[in-house]
Amino acid sequence: MASSLRHFVHSPAAAAASTPSLLSRFSPNFCTFAALRPIRPFSANPKPPTAAEQEQEQYAGAGTGTGTGAEEESSVPTTELPEPAGPPALRVGIIGFGNFGQFIARGIQRQGHAVLATSRSDYSAYCAANGIRFFRSLEALCEEQPDVLLVCSSILSTESVVRAIPFGKLRPDTIVADVLSVKQFPRNLLLEILPPEFGIVCTHPMFGPESGKHGWNMLPFVYDKVRIAEEGDQKAKCEQFLSIFEREGCRMEEMSCEEHDRHAAGSQFITHTIGRVLAQLNLKSTPINTKGYETLLQLTKNTVSDSFDLYYGLFMYNVNATEQMEKLDRAFEQVKQMLYGRLHDILRKQIVERVPVPGSPSLRPREAQNSCAAAREETNHLSQVVDVHTFSQAAFSTAKC
Ligand code: NAP
Repeated sequence: MASSLRHFVHSPAAAAASTPSLLSRFSPNFCTFAALRPIRPFSANPKPPTAAEQEQEQYAGAGTGTGTGAEEESSVPTTELPEPAGPPALRVGIIGFGNFGQFIARGIQRQGHAVLATSRSDYSAYCAANGIRFFRSLEALCEEQPDVLLVCSSILSTESVVRAIPFGKLRPDTIVADVLSVKQFPRNLLLEILPPEFGIVCTHPMFGPESGKHGWNMLPFVYDKVRIAEEGDQKAKCEQFLSIFEREGCRMEEMSCEEHDRHAAGSQFITHTIGRVLAQLNLKSTPINTKGYETLLQLTKNTVSDSFDLYYGLFMYNVNATEQMEKLDRAFEQVKQMLYGRLHDILRKQIVERVPVPGSPSLRPREAQNSCAAAREETNHLSQVVDVHTFSQAAFSTAKC
């Protein structure tokens, strides 16, 4: 995936402050705003701090030095209202903890939410090292009743993965979200399989471990709130979930799954296809790389770092992909026609109309001179149209004098 990356030093607070706030009424990450938090006024009946508050306290203390302690001890009465408590952090259960599952987990954690994970393979060591609870079965993860179940499995395995979810173990207002790079397919699948009370949010972060390795700022995040209940907690949890990406600085793009698939076939699928074609050429760096060539090398690298399953899923599970493949095929043919068509014109003139071949010994000196000039003119013109010097040199050798 070729994306222009914005390199930045990660700072969730700065990102949140500089991003237009679509979802800003939710602040799941207490740590993010700890430094900006007003000093809590003295309370006559202090409640014991929650774990999140204790964590917040430590963070605020570390950030502001020791000076705040005395102020918090102060018994001077104040008219400031107590700070309203934010919603508790989400518990996000990730199904499919491969390349992308691990990548997205890092962003969820950065925003102060808990990650639980399960996968076909054993990622328990990775999870233990990264503060994530790993479950060896989907059933065990669902028994923990996460707020959001995030499907990060391959497109090809998604149907069997979703059918295996033990819905009875989950709370009936659980939100099931997905990150698949195609959108109509998971939306229809989730609508078909999930119990009616479950919420459904279809998302596609339009970046991955390569293109998002320096941060998610300004990278597009597509979402469609397919089924979210107005009453109860579901709506708030959905906004809280989406705010993870907003706070990471993503460009939030709400659109229908159909619209996504149309755009993605004409952009992402084409990009992956060109990358795969270039990979077949086994391109190598040269001592005289142009900027354009460097871009192609990077595109190839990014594309092949994704699994072939992913690419095949982009093709097979997007109804618009076949049309794009055919368009690409036709476009390549047209470009070849533009090149070979001109060559054929010259050869036809020589064969059918008997225009003398430049350099032929049968030409008289005067004729040879004219013919050379005409052929040179034609070659120059072709070289301007087709910026492939070596090709024009070889293909039009008949025009050499
Ligand atoms: P992927 O090859 O599309 O998917 C790998 C994941 O699928 C792993 O978690 C793997 O589990 C699981 N999986 C594969 N076959 C399975 C099966 N038969 N049964 C159960 N699980 C199976 O590579 P990915 O890059 O990690 O992508 C994951 C999802 O994220 C895809 O839906 C993709 O469209 C989406 N996505 C990817 C990117 C990206 O840049 N890579 C960007 C946006 C969205 P194990 O690891 O346990 O084997």
